[in-house]
Amino acid sequence: MDTRIPVKSLSVILMFLYMILGFWAQAQKCLANSANDSIIEENANPKFSAKIRQTVYLPVVVHILHNENIQNISESQIKAQIERVNEDFSKLNADFVNTPSIFQQVAADVEIQFCLATVDPQGNTSNGITRTETSVPEIGLTEFYYLTNKGGKSAWDNEKYINIWVADLGDSEILGFATFPGEAAPEGKDGVLINYRYFGNQGSHMEAPHELGRALTHEMGHYFGLFHTWGELNDDCNSDDGCEDTPLQDGPTFGCPSFPNPDICTQNNGIMFMNYMDYSDDACLTMFTQDQKDIMWTSLQDERSVLLDQSHSSCTVSNSSTTFIAKNCHFFPNPATTGITIIYSQFLKDQSLKIYDVTGDLVFKTDVGSSPYYLQLHDLETGIYYLSFQYELKKLVIID
Ligand SMILES: [Zn+2]
Repeated sequence: MDTRIPVKSLSVILMFLYMILGFWAQAQKCLANSANDSIIEENANPKFSAKIRQTVYLPVVVHILHNENIQNISESQIKAQIERVNEDFSKLNADFVNTPSIFQQVAADVEIQFCLATVDPQGNTSNGITRTETSVPEIGLTEFYYLTNKGGKSAWDNEKYINIWVADLGDSEILGFATFPGEAAPEGKDGVLINYRYFGNQGSHMEAPHELGRALTHEMGHYFGLFHTWGELNDDCNSDDGCEDTPLQDGPTFGCPSFPNPDICTQNNGIMFMNYMDYSDDACLTMFTQDQKDIMWTSLQDERSVLLDQSHSSCTVSNSSTTFIAKNCHFFPNPATTGITIIYSQFLKDQSLKIYDVTGDLVFKTDVGSSPYYLQLHDLETGIYYLSFQYELKKLVIID
């Protein structure tokens, strides 16, 4: 008896398998919680971010949780991953040229960058990486990955660092998880979790088609308030992501379609399957849009503004051409009355100090001399401002 399955039957079986697995994957692939759509509507203030043209550098800590050696990812892969996200967020990714020109027109340099912390919460020198050997298998699938006493690693101060956990999520299709801005997450959980198989950039531990480190780019989008490009409901063209410059989309994209790729919601130029907030293969993701940038900046100035508030730790920025230290500037007091003292350790790029009001209007600018520098504030009314100086943007409160 011939037990081989005829080719035609096999392809039908494979198609069904694909549909079942595909459906499961699209339900499971990314566990970012959906926040309320209205949050974006209410808080959208593109005016501010359009005016400020100062890239901010935010310190991150990467917590490696390993149960097997392969999960103990090398420092070079961690740095390659941070570099990948920084390229993607600054539109410096080499494959941006593959973006169709119609979509290049709305693509954005987000002007948010990430750097490994060089100081830990206790003030000790650090490489911005913690390593925890855990006895808990597949700890990423448990609710304990962010708790040291449960075999995970407790967060560094969530208001000063972006916490990124890298852990085993078993054979699941989950690439990662992120908490939304303003989400009521359990204390210490705020941050991003990435499946170790998808953390790095072409590391030997990584699995196609998500081997280029774009899972973190995607989850960072969620961390700063972005929804998926198709909204959160499949098969519903009314479900949207709150961005006018991302076309309506029926549901997630898998694989790597060719342009144009129309669906039932958008014809002609088709959907923006190369947007980082879709599910396409890593090799096909190339861009964020201007509206997505505005949403991310809105959260950075609102729910996530604590990341700008503090005189947080210095951090190391590296990319393929240069390595430099983004030294933070400190100023005090804050809130302030008549003036502030600014201390900084070295000149980087621009010696201009700028102060913006809450609407993004530049209200004060000066060239700064040697540190410490005293700045009189008596010309400014009481209120909330943003002080921009040397890769940093910090909230400044002036009171009577
Ligand atoms: Zn997602």
